[in-house]
Amino acid sequence: MDEITVAWCKRRWKCASQECARKTFTESLPAIPPRWRLTSRLRDLLATEVAERGCTVAGAARWQHVSWPVTHAAFAEHADPVLAQALCVPTITSAALTSGVACPTARP
Ligand SMILES: [Zn+2]
Repeated sequence: MDEITVAWCKRRWKCASQECARKTFTESLPAIPPRWRLTSRLRDLLATEVAERGCTVAGAARWQHVSWPVTHAAFAEHADPVLAQALCVPTITSAALTSGVACPTARP
């Protein structure tokens, strides 16, 4: 499959109001909230690779050319509510599940 690259140059805006505490802000979209560097679609893909396909966080990160922390955050955001609700054991977290698990669908 061909790789797709999304590039967006977010503009930083300056508030004209003298009373404004915020002073500046950047453009955002629902799919790319402020301070996010990935689209929500890519975050969902990374989370699904780990949570539902059994890939490691490192494997999914390598596959999509993103960092481990970003991939783990996407997975945790996806998995922690499910784990808390399904298992009713709040001490089990995505961090505990991702340590040392081999990826059965490792990609070159
Ligand atoms: Zn303002």
